Amino acid sequence: MAEAGIDLSTPIQYLKGIGPKRGAALQSIGIHIASDLLYYYPRRYIDRRTITSISELKKDDLVTIVGEVVSMGVERGRKRRFNLIVEDGSGYISCVWFNGIKYVQNKFKEDQSIAIYGKVGIFGNQFTIVHPEFDLLGKGQNPLKTGAIIPIYPSTEELKKVNLDSNGMMKILKNYVFPLSKQLHDHLPKEVIAKENLMELSEALRQIHFSDDEKLLEQAIFRIKYDELFFYQLLLAIRKQSAKTGRVGIQFTRTGQLFKALFESLPFELTNSQKSVLKEIRKDMAKREPMQRLLQGDVGSGKTVVALLAASIPIGSGYQSAIMAPTEILSEQHYKNAVKLFKNMGINIVQIIGGQSKSERKKLLAKVSSGEANLIIGTHALIYKEVVFDKLGFITIDEQHRFGVEQRAEIMKKGVNPDILIMSATPIPRSLGLSIYGDLDISVLTDMPIGARNVRSEWRRSESRNKIYEFIKNKLNDGGQTFIIYPLVEESEKMDLLAAKEGYKLLSEDLFKDHKLALLHGRLRSDEKESIMNDFSAGKIDLLIATTVIEVGIDVPNANVMLVENAERFGLSQLHQMRGRIGRSGEKSYFIMISDAKGEAAAKRLKVICETDSGFKIADEDLKQRGYGDFFGKQQHGVPNFKLADIINDIDIIKKARLSAFELIKNDPHLRSPANRLLRDKFMTDYSERLKFIETG
Ligand code: ADP
Ligand code: MG
Repeated sequence: MAEAGIDLSTPIQYLKGIGPKRGAALQSIGIHIASDLLYYYPRRYIDRRTITSISELKKDDLVTIVGEVVSMGVERGRKRRFNLIVEDGSGYISCVWFNGIKYVQNKFKEDQSIAIYGKVGIFGNQFTIVHPEFDLLGKGQNPLKTGAIIPIYPSTEELKKVNLDSNGMMKILKNYVFPLSKQLHDHLPKEVIAKENLMELSEALRQIHFSDDEKLLEQAIFRIKYDELFFYQLLLAIRKQSAKTGRVGIQFTRTGQLFKALFESLPFELTNSQKSVLKEIRKDMAKREPMQRLLQGDVGSGKTVVALLAASIPIGSGYQSAIMAPTEILSEQHYKNAVKLFKNMGINIVQIIGGQSKSERKKLLAKVSSGEANLIIGTHALIYKEVVFDKLGFITIDEQHRFGVEQRAEIMKKGVNPDILIMSATPIPRSLGLSIYGDLDISVLTDMPIGARNVRSEWRRSESRNKIYEFIKNKLNDGGQTFIIYPLVEESEKMDLLAAKEGYKLLSEDLFKDHKLALLHGRLRSDEKESIMNDFSAGKIDLLIATTVIEVGIDVPNANVMLVENAERFGLSQLHQMRGRIGRSGEKSYFIMISDAKGEAAAKRLKVICETDSGFKIADEDLKQRGYGDFFGKQQHGVPNFKLADIINDIDIIKKARLSAFELIKNDPHLRSPANRLLRDKFMTDYSERLKFIETG
């Protein structure tokens, strides 16, 4: 039992059985005060249902066994090994280590209770697990005998040095979970607990550490996951309402002449989904609250036109519009596009990017601040302090997932509650969207411009390369243009670049010596890149050899072949993005992946690309294969690392938590009601970092 005077906020080192040394180790993993202990959850459980008794083992089963160490020792057969014999009352099993003998041999004691995990083999008539995973258990701790559910706690080397392995942690928690949890008041409002039929917080925390009942444990886990997800949805709800409600944005009630002129000058008719999305955008822009909308659409679905049409509305009413792109190449493309579309309409368009000279930049900035510039296009350079707008009414952020929430907040400050449209070509499965874009209204472009894409995708082995080159040559002779893409990643950048350079040399000196070739890679200066892209767009270059710098964005309608070398090195979404660069004129195009991949996963990816052109299907598959952490890679997705909840698998809990959280914020936007006081305190503590980006009104 804990001694008197211990409460939830007692510094960890003052707890009996902890002290300064262990206290320091615990602080290193974020346990600073007593209550932090309660939230240090087991990483797994061992219970009767998950344990197999040795008498029931079959070869090749993946099992968990709990028993006692009978004997152990290093044996020198043909190969030195460490052998550990474990007994569970129904039989014996041998655990064998060939490697790391020094490390394991000091881990065990005779009579020690132990859980082992692994695949069962049979050697010389004896059940054996080679290199099993294992957890050391406390004395006599065997769920088969006691019926208890054993929690296994995560540990670190530092913790183990002070005897806080899983077992050590458990001993401490045994002392403190009960007295500490008794002092807790549930922070969730009573209505939420009742509506969702949730287990009370203190009970959930007791059960999650020490439970005798699988059902209760399940309810406890549900409650804790619900908490984590509820708080995050609360953040999204607050973000959303602080960006909208109570803010007086600009009401663009009339679409105006400029919009009409632009609309009528388009060389094509808008698709149905472009039309309906525009309707949603116009409705948003007419409202008092600022627009916060995400426009999702596959590559080539025509997001840019929609954005430019939207941008024309504020410009028509005397405001400025801005477009922020993730790269200079993309910014450049938007700029050219805009210049072309707004031709002869008296619109002043300005581009702000990194590589501009000081004097040029100064001139441009003056235009932006005086209001002479109507449409301002650029990279994140738009966020810089020196960029001051005269009357910014609307912002489009292209490829949102490359920018973080903070950058979104920064650019918003450049105007007085401007309308925001965020464009993303990464189709996010709906489930994930609730977490990642949960604070935005969402529009989706579901249909492609008629006849816009007719791309055939093929996977070939490298022995076909020469045939493919012949094919490319024919296509070039017919007036097309081709991309050849080489993979390039940071870890092997030098080698990768070399491969691209060699490819370029080989092709330009031999097979394609009568054509115009260029090599584009990230190491070039931005003006060099720009001039190559310009020449390629203008048709002055026939064949562009590039590393993945062109992965997003650029639009060269005449390009009808893309060849990807070592295609197995790309992810599904990347391949799909690259494929989106061709077939943009509606003419039949070819996406050819060369790969000698033998691995199953790679083969599956390449086949998926050949079989479907649907970005949503590909994203779903990608997510399934990689999980969401890798799906977004290093890019920010903003969702916190929950301890228990999983934003893919716990979608049902997310939906419930979302509904309750949004309703709560609707009724009590600033959490000021006394009934929500505990909730507010807890939320402000846990989310203090993230709340910085929100201006609460
Ligand atoms: P996204 O930005 O969604 O990848 P874009 O806006 O760049 O797509 O459009 C891709 C191509 O299709 C562009 O060349 C654009 O001019 C053209 N396009 C857009 N909308 C239509 C339409 N409704 N009909 C025909 N072509 C269109
Ligand atoms: Mg685009």
